[in-house]
Amino acid sequence: MYIVDGHCDTLLALQEKKETLKENSLQISLNRIKKTSSDYLQFYAVFVSPSIKGLEAINQYKNMVSILQNECEKNNIPRILTKSDLNFKGHGALLSVEGLYFLDEKQITLDDLYKDGVRCLSMTWNGSNSYAGGVLGKLSHGLTKKGANLVKKAEKLGIILDVSHLDDRSFYDLSEISSNPFVATHSNARAICENSRNLTDDMLVTLKKHGGLAGINMYGRFLKEQGDTSVVDVIRHIEHICTVASVDTVGFGTDFDGIPREHSAIDSPIALIAVLEQLAILNYTQEQIDKIAGGNYLRVLTRVLK
Ligand SMILES: [Zn+2]
Repeated sequence: MYIVDGHCDTLLALQEKKETLKENSLQISLNRIKKTSSDYLQFYAVFVSPSIKGLEAINQYKNMVSILQNECEKNNIPRILTKSDLNFKGHGALLSVEGLYFLDEKQITLDDLYKDGVRCLSMTWNGSNSYAGGVLGKLSHGLTKKGANLVKKAEKLGIILDVSHLDDRSFYDLSEISSNPFVATHSNARAICENSRNLTDDMLVTLKKHGGLAGINMYGRFLKEQGDTSVVDVIRHIEHICTVASVDTVGFGTDFDGIPREHSAIDSPIALIAVLEQLAILNYTQEQIDKIAGGNYLRVLTRVLK
């Protein structure tokens, strides 16, 4: 099995708790990934809080990049930088960025991020910035001219664009100018769980048209508005996306180590195997299960990476 998880906040947690990737108290560790007995590609997001400004923000970004680099060297984890890296065995690591609040033409540019190995990026986190409207931003200005230029530049470099935290207007603005498949790395179906971080049916269809996908987020409150959640709730989102868009439009984006752990039975990489097993019980074919597990992400990565 080839599994791809399009989003986690493990780098931030490692930085805060000073733990190691191999063995730790977090949701994602190398030992827990090993238990899946799968080839497992993890997107590791760098997230710097928008409240941190200037040089301090840039240093935090750089620190998280070096945490990943050191862990990869120490544990012989291949970095995913080009299409040919997708043939790895075991565990592969792809660097992503969530929120470009620290980007600054004079100090650090998109080219610098690319050199650091960033291959997926979300322009905003919840708040709006000079690139795009964030999902909790008060007034949406949509994608700005600067944001549109950044989209073009990212596409040219071979960086995947992530729309998970964009507000609805910015999502559509991006879809109009984008020529590569783009993804919502960690967002669910809004028809199943009403939340602005989730995607409307029309957005899911738009992702499908562009050859992109939505990665199922395991946060309890994005799966179900109230109560505890289990594999059944994850399946409801998968089934809905398969119905309104297609089986080519769904993947995983767990959000592990960035979400509160209560209300969810989906708590570590091995739980993804339980989801895939449940799909088999529901008569999904092996080909469909492989697509959801990671095949759809591989399709996007193969299209976008150099
Ligand atoms: Zn997020």
